[in-house]
Amino acid sequence: MPATPAWPPRSLTRLFVEQPLGVGTSVDLDGAQANYLGNVMRMKAGAAVLLFDGGSGEWLAELVEAGRKRVTLVVREATRPQEAVPDLWLAFAPVKKGRVDWLVEKAVELGVARLIPVVTQRTIVDKLNLERTRAHIVEAAEQCGRTALAGIEPAISLSAFLRDRDAARKLYFADETGGERAAEAFTPGPATLLIGPEGGFNATEAEEIRAAVNAIPISLGPRILRAETAALAAVTAWMAAVGDW
Ligand code: SAM
Repeated sequence: MPATPAWPPRSLTRLFVEQPLGVGTSVDLDGAQANYLGNVMRMKAGAAVLLFDGGSGEWLAELVEAGRKRVTLVVREATRPQEAVPDLWLAFAPVKKGRVDWLVEKAVELGVARLIPVVTQRTIVDKLNLERTRAHIVEAAEQCGRTALAGIEPAISLSAFLRDRDAARKLYFADETGGERAAEAFTPGPATLLIGPEGGFNATEAEEIRAAVNAIPISLGPRILRAETAALAAVTAWMAAVGDW
C-alpha cells in the first residue's frame, strides 16, 4: 500500500466490526458487509478499508481475500485514536418510525453519547425496535467518521426515568411553554437533554420534571418545533455552547 501523505484518504469505506482490533488482527466478514465490499464496492485483494470496533480508535485494514460470500481483511495500522465523546445524553419521547431513524442518525452525527427513549402519557409510539435503531447508529457512525457508537437504552417510562436518573447530571428539559434561553442555559458538565412527544408533556409531567433535582427548563425559541427538530436544535445548541465544536 503506497505510503503517501494522502494515505489513507478520508473517502475510504469505513466499517464497524464487533471484534476487538489491533495491528495484525484478521477480520472475516460475511453477510451484508461481505456483500457490500465484494459485490457492491467490487473490492479486490489489496484494497484498503477503515475499521473501528467502538473502543480502540480507527484502523486501516487490507483486503486479503475476497470471496462471493466472505471477505477477509488484515489490520495494518492505526489511523486515529478513540474519540473523546462529549458527555451528552439525549432522552426523547419516541415519534413515528421514519422520524426516529432520522433523529437517531442526526444525534449520532452531532456527537451524542447515549440515546434514551422515554415514554410519556402522550407518546404515540411506545416501543422502539432496538436492533433497528442500533443498525442506524452503526450506519451513521460509519458515515460520519465516529469511532465510538452512541449507546441506546430500552424505552423507559418518564416516571421511572425521573426516579432512576443520576441527580448530579444536569437535566435540560426542552419546554415550549418557556424556560431559559438554551444558548445561555448550558454550562459545562455531564448533561441530559429531555425532549417531549408531538403532543407535548401534560401538565402533571411538566410539573414533575420541573420539580426534579438539577432540572433546567430551556426554551428553543418562540416557535413550536416538531419533536425531532427540537432534539436537533437542543443538541446543536449544547454542542456549540459546551460541547466539542
Ligand atoms: N405541546 C405542543 C403543542 O402541541 O402545542 C408541542 C410539542 S412539540 C411538537 C414537541 C416537544 O418539542 C416539546 O414537548 C418540547 O420538548 C420540544 N419543543 C418544541 N418547541 C420548543 C420550543 N420552542 N422550546 C422548547 N422546547 C420545544
